[in-house]
Amino acid sequence: MISIIYPNLYVDSLFDINLQDLKKQGIRGIIFDLDNTIIPRDQKYFSADIAGWLLELKEHNFKLCIVSNNRRQHRVSYLAQALDIPYVYKAGKPGRKAFRRAMQLLNTDVSDTAVVGDQVFTDVYGGNRLGLFTILVVPLPGKEFWGTTFFNRRLEKLVLAKIKKRLS
Ligand SMILES: [Mg+2]
Repeated sequence: MISIIYPNLYVDSLFDINLQDLKKQGIRGIIFDLDNTIIPRDQKYFSADIAGWLLELKEHNFKLCIVSNNRRQHRVSYLAQALDIPYVYKAGKPGRKAFRRAMQLLNTDVSDTAVVGDQVFTDVYGGNRLGLFTILVVPLPGKEFWGTTFFNRRLEKLVLAKIKKRLS
């Protein structure tokens, strides 16, 4: 039962995600969490290396979408527009609705879509519920939403050790 919270892949950094491996698995669409996954929550602009990496994904014909629980539409839309990719804000992850919406936007389905996020209980659990390929990434440094720190991160600590053990 607990395997529903295990990611398929756990990486220290976005740059450790092997694009060739994703291609080989038939992944065509990638759903990205926003805050602390591709940009620190307290930053307004993408770092040059992350923006460059995301654009590289597009050049490799991956279709990208941002799915964020952030309720501030202007932040999510501004950043998605900077990359010229679609987005879903106020996503309500781990609910499945936003992931389904993202796959509609990408014209992909559960068999060829991956999710990349920094949180076990929203990104990974939500993606696993639908059977997506889930990639957990160590959060970018930066301030977090207080609720995340007090609830999800504490629980996460308990399971991360197990995840590392299982995936190593
Ligand atoms: Mg996040």
